[in-house]
Amino acid sequence: MSVAGRAHLTPDRLSDRLRYLVLSMLVIVVAVGIAGLIAVRVATGQVDQLTKGYNPAIDTHTSALIDMLNAETGIRGYVLTGNKSFLQPYLDSKNKVVPTLNATKATLNSVGEHGQDASINVELARANAWLNTYAAPIVATRGKPNISDQRQNQGKTMFNSYRTANNTVSAQLQNKRDNLRAQSTRIRGLAFPTLIAIVVIAILVAIALAVRSARRISRPLTKVWSVVRRLNKGDLNARADEDDGPAEVRDLAHAVNALAIRSSADSVAEREAELFRQRTRLISSTIRRTTNGAIMADHLARGLGSAFEVDRVWLRTFPDDRVPSLTAQWHVERLADLDDPVDEHVEATRSLASRLWESAQIVTIDDHRSYQPSEQGQLLFKIVQKAGATSSMVVPIGDSSSAFGLVWISMVSHPRHWTMTEAGVAQHLAADLAHSLMQAHLIERQAQAVQMLQELDQAKSDFISTVSHELRTPLTSITGYLELLTDGEVGDLPPSASKVLQVIDRNATRLRNLIEDLLTQSRIDAGRLRLDMASVDVAEVLRAVQAAMTPLAASSDVLLDFDCPVSGTLQVYADAPQLEQVFTNLVSNAVKFTPSGGKVSVVAEHDEVEGGVFAQVIDNGIGIPERDIPNLFTRFFRASNASASVTPGTGLGLAIVHEIVQRHGGEVDVESELGRGSTFSVWLPTHPPLAI
Ligand code: ADP
Repeated sequence: MSVAGRAHLTPDRLSDRLRYLVLSMLVIVVAVGIAGLIAVRVATGQVDQLTKGYNPAIDTHTSALIDMLNAETGIRGYVLTGNKSFLQPYLDSKNKVVPTLNATKATLNSVGEHGQDASINVELARANAWLNTYAAPIVATRGKPNISDQRQNQGKTMFNSYRTANNTVSAQLQNKRDNLRAQSTRIRGLAFPTLIAIVVIAILVAIALAVRSARRISRPLTKVWSVVRRLNKGDLNARADEDDGPAEVRDLAHAVNALAIRSSADSVAEREAELFRQRTRLISSTIRRTTNGAIMADHLARGLGSAFEVDRVWLRTFPDDRVPSLTAQWHVERLADLDDPVDEHVEATRSLASRLWESAQIVTIDDHRSYQPSEQGQLLFKIVQKAGATSSMVVPIGDSSSAFGLVWISMVSHPRHWTMTEAGVAQHLAADLAHSLMQAHLIERQAQAVQMLQELDQAKSDFISTVSHELRTPLTSITGYLELLTDGEVGDLPPSASKVLQVIDRNATRLRNLIEDLLTQSRIDAGRLRLDMASVDVAEVLRAVQAAMTPLAASSDVLLDFDCPVSGTLQVYADAPQLEQVFTNLVSNAVKFTPSGGKVSVVAEHDEVEGGVFAQVIDNGIGIPERDIPNLFTRFFRASNASASVTPGTGLGLAIVHEIVQRHGGEVDVESELGRGSTFSVWLPTHPPLAI
């Protein structure tokens, strides 16, 4: 039999059960009450018979005997004496006897006793016989009664007969009363324990009923309660037994189960929603992780496909300045790749996407069979229909002003309902893609621009390098021949010619320095400046610089003073030619920016504190404006006073100094006061760091 069948056959309701319990209790109480009443009734019935029947009947019966005895005494006294006064007791009693006996009978009848009626009637008859037949004629005689002995004996016999009848009734009544008394005592002795026994049994039955009912209610309730506790602890699979206990408890179990099913459905829905959120977050972050537009679009298509569990995702951007032109598609395995469905209608699709974009809308078609497209949506509808879609979502991709692409998410196998959440997520992801695509496009264009600039820069460096090399060869030839001329190797020259030669020599030196600066700078730019490290004596380097710079200083009428310790004390590990270029640049600047009559001092010493060499080039020339000092070591920078005084220069010298000193792990610094002179300080470590 099915559970439902059993439940149907026993409509076991809590209320019925309680009603049944209350009814049972009521029956028990009534039964106990009735039993008590019966016991009382039995006990009091005996007493009633005694007190209302036999005791008063015995009394009245005795009083009838007394009346008869009084009457007999009166008659006897009268017979013996003839004195009428003796008749008084007779007269007092004769009329009482019959009523008294009748009253005795009536009293007994009133308690249901009719067994004595016959005996009492006999007694009545015998009393009447004596009173009427014997006594009344004697009383009626006038004068002294003369009663024969025979008659007297006859009267005696009649009275004795009465006495016998009276005795019989008396004995019967006494006997009956004694029996009743004994019976009453017996009943009273039994009634109380019986009553107690009945009450005890009734209480036991009531308790058993109550316990049984309570158990049948509480047991299934406890089970339901334990299920509620398990549910509360998160065990959403816990279920209550819907077929156990009274109907109300079963209803409760059913309600608890319904609640559990709903909460577990809610929690499944919540988990699915969280999974969906995680997937979409993942799509966003993967899109942002790359700067390649095609990869981004691919991530979006793939991500949307798996997050939305659809059949196909197709995406394209239209030709636009803001983003690269690309298409991407993803589909379930059983489908084939799609040829660009909007290829022939790019402009129409673009304007539709733009309209959607402007109105912040997306298109969702749950079921293509029952969809009626608007006039504007006809084209799009035809396109997606042609591609075999049964259900579609079309989301525009764009920036603040207009759309530049669209994403089409579709089902092919069957229609599908697109939720608001999905629509929102698709819109959000399309916006993410738009933003990332634009950024990537911008970065790409920037990278292209940078590459172009680098190529240009490289071309410039190559050009400078080539030109410098090309200039260096003829300049070497010029200075070589100049030396021949000044040394008199080609014959004596007139004095005026030697002055001209000095000018040529000075400018040739300047030109050589310029070319060296340009070559060094282009080597630095190209990353080709290599340090050829060796142990170098800075004093020797300075002496070479002094030799080279002295003619220049002399021609400018500037006193050049070198103050160095003896050789061997300023030893550092360095690239000697580059170190020479550092000091050549600093000294030539000092000479250049010191008016004639001025002085340039070069001092160098061993750095006792940190080790290495500390050298200074000090002049009392034009100085440098304070605001220009921070930019001095920048390429092509020239202080405002240098430009104003039309002192020639490229602005490369100090930048090269700075670069070379830094590569040696050293430092260069400047202190200057406008109009009073400048001091350039160079510190070089004994051993440059290994990384150089
Ligand atoms: P250039 O000397 O070819 O102009 P530099 O790079 O060697 O280029 O110097 C940059 C600028 O620093 C100079 O144009 C000049 O304004 C300033 N300068 C350099 N040395 C001195 C100096 N000893 N006294 C005054 N100004 C100087």
